[in-house]
Amino acid sequence: MKLALLGPRGKVGRALAPALEAAGHEVRGIPRGETIDVQGLDAAIDFTTPAAGAETIRACLEQDLPCIVGTTGIDLRPLATLAEERGLVLFHAPNFALGAVLMMRFAQEAAQLMPRAEIIELHNEAKRDAPSGTAKATAVLVGGDPAIHSVRLPGLVAHQEVLFGGEGQLLTIRHDTFSRDAFVPGVLLALEKLSTLPPGLTVGLDALL
Ligand code: NAP
Repeated sequence: MKLALLGPRGKVGRALAPALEAAGHEVRGIPRGETIDVQGLDAAIDFTTPAAGAETIRACLEQDLPCIVGTTGIDLRPLATLAEERGLVLFHAPNFALGAVLMMRFAQEAAQLMPRAEIIELHNEAKRDAPSGTAKATAVLVGGDPAIHSVRLPGLVAHQEVLFGGEGQLLTIRHDTFSRDAFVPGVLLALEKLSTLPPGLTVGLDALL
């Protein structure tokens, strides 16, 4: 596919571009400050910032491109409406790492029997939004409005623990992302399934598995 990549110089963008090309896609990186002209391309992938993403994604939808959104912390509702009006797919995964999807699934299952839970999410200091999109999605799955603790430190990539406390015991479900390569298979899967999704917003890798 011919792809627009928004945020090509970012930490994820730098890992994603060569991996997409290695998978046979043609990638046009559109860095900050460049006019977003995506005419003639097949889809856009956005890994920018919560502040920039709403506008970069809107620009792509307005030029009739389906969008895969990795950027977290964006209010996607107005973009979902726009995608629906234009008959375009808007896909967002708060976490493109397959292991994180499993971590959320297992946490949902554990909460059925151990409902007292808290979440600790740990990310690189450059991550602007807190709590993370993954932590918020996990909290919904676990239910009961669990407390979320956010850690931002250098050296970290993306990590999350879901702790379940019971009488005399603690269950910890943990996922660690050590490099941005962890997000590549999820993005490739989203590209593969893009044409099978209904117009409007679809959220979560789970919807593709
Ligand atoms: P990053 O290293 O800070 O990169 C952000 C990129 O956005 C940079 O390349 C930056 O350009 C670009 N940018 C900033 N303002 C822009 C604007 N107005 N227009 C166009 N581009 C703009 O962040 P990252 O670690 O790659 O993460 C990017 C986003 O993805 C974050 O929201 C993060 O939370 C999210 N994320 C999601 C997942 C997932 O699985 N869903 C995984 C990892 C990260 P410059 O290089 O010019 O500054």
